Amino acid sequence: MKRITIALDGHASCGKSTMAKQLAKEINYVYIDTGAMYRAVTLYAMRQGYIKADGSIDEAALEADISNIIIMFVYNTEKGRLETYLNGESVEDEIRTMEVSAHVSPIATLGFVRSAMVDLQRLMGEAKGVILDGRDIGTVVFPNAELKVFVTAAPEVRAQRRYDELTGKGLQVDYDEVLKNVRERDRIDSTRAISPLRKADDAVVLDNSHMTREEQMAWLRGAFAVASRD
Ligand code: C5P
Repeated sequence: MKRITIALDGHASCGKSTMAKQLAKEINYVYIDTGAMYRAVTLYAMRQGYIKADGSIDEAALEADISNIIIMFVYNTEKGRLETYLNGESVEDEIRTMEVSAHVSPIATLGFVRSAMVDLQRLMGEAKGVILDGRDIGTVVFPNAELKVFVTAAPEVRAQRRYDELTGKGLQVDYDEVLKNVRERDRIDSTRAISPLRKADDAVVLDNSHMTREEQMAWLRGAFAVASRD
């Protein structure tokens, strides 16, 4: 079995990261959550006041500051999870809030943000034995990935899962607001000029609207076994 690069792209909140994390654990691969990187940049921009009350972004200020944003992933043994670090601070919980979700897609349309993140993702993933989830992994970041999966599900199903996840963490959210955010992120991600979300020609589609988590994992293990054959 050869060590390969796995690209998991797809729509917002379709369970990519849950699947990617579990597979990485099972096959002993490194997992890279590229959405978390765009979320960390967004949190930084919010904290610095680069996102104004009307939602517009001070692009010049963010661009001048982009090299000061250091993102890393560190395993927290106590909590048993991989955490996103922004300039030395764990921001794993802060980057998952609805506020960050509301601003992340406009931030991710900016060319200088994308090129900084793509450089970092290529560096993190160059050694193979990696699984990345995102929007442009199979099309832009690693177009030669041996396994490309495009994950999707009905928007209402995705919103319900996200709603359950957030309320499960004790957060107060409104289902309609979550659905609106899921749809809006899909719209911005799919229509942006740079690296829009689209299925790579050689990606296999996984529509998990009516699949249990275990059915998805079985599907993914099978796809991995085929792609990593010597
Ligand atoms: O995967 P997640 O939903 O956490 O990603 C948050 C946002 O980051 C997406 O809605 C998208 O706007 C952006 N993103 C991106 N390219 C990636 C990963 C995420 O533009 N590779």
